[in-house]
Amino acid sequence: MEGEYTDEMAKSKSKIDAVSKPAKPRRTAAGTARKTRWPSDYSPDEVAEIFRRFAVQRPEPKGELEHVNAYTLLVAVVLSAQATDAGVNKATRGLFAVADTPQKMLALGEAGVADHIRTIGLWRNKAKNVIALSRALIDNFGGEVPADRDALTSLPGVGRKTANVVLNMAFGQPTMAVDTHILRLGNRLKLAPGKTPDEVEAKLVRIIPEKYMRHAHHWLILHGRYVCKARKPDCWNCVIADICNAPDKASDVPAPLVPIDGDGPVAPQAP
Ligand code: SF4
Repeated sequence: MEGEYTDEMAKSKSKIDAVSKPAKPRRTAAGTARKTRWPSDYSPDEVAEIFRRFAVQRPEPKGELEHVNAYTLLVAVVLSAQATDAGVNKATRGLFAVADTPQKMLALGEAGVADHIRTIGLWRNKAKNVIALSRALIDNFGGEVPADRDALTSLPGVGRKTANVVLNMAFGQPTMAVDTHILRLGNRLKLAPGKTPDEVEAKLVRIIPEKYMRHAHHWLILHGRYVCKARKPDCWNCVIADICNAPDKASDVPAPLVPIDGDGPVAPQAP
């Protein structure tokens, strides 16, 4: 995933597990519990409406990393740090054809893995991690990918963001893997403002209605990639332009809310 925050960066920024735990209500001097502040510029109804529209627009977002099981998804996400999904898919097609389990990956060996992924950035280190994490899966988890964040982040090369992607895509857990698009949207729209991916993650997990959490991270990534782009947001093609609170938005008129096939771009509207 090109241009993203790496797990290493995320790991160094804060103590991870503390982040998504809801803050305890503060107590006033009188000892009564006070509710923590709603962490978004949007009301709960507005947040729900934003995600309702994303859900109509992209009923089944899939993510673009190719994989055949939870293990190959985990390997693909580890390989995707500072690389494009397309570049990773090109390399993993051959790799997963010969090694789609930790046992087969170990049998292939580090040099064999390296041969397949040489076109991806940081391939030497990534080949090492793929072998080390495969060995750890066999030694500690019976060769299965664990559906648990602490267990996943104990694996070599796996940080919170990678764990969140795997928990969400392979196990259907309501996690939020914050990449560069989601970090930008959280702040530009004032949806979940925060200086770090962990801060934005904690706020998004708090404000997004549970029924939308399964796909929320894909919707935000795709909205950021195709519409609310980094340099120049394409507000004319935005289905939430009327709700959006970005100070520099270029339109108040929402684009027609029509379903899109797959994970591709929206059909452009004339300004
Ligand atoms: S209106 Fe513009 S700034 Fe707001 S979400 Fe849409 S594309 Fe982004």
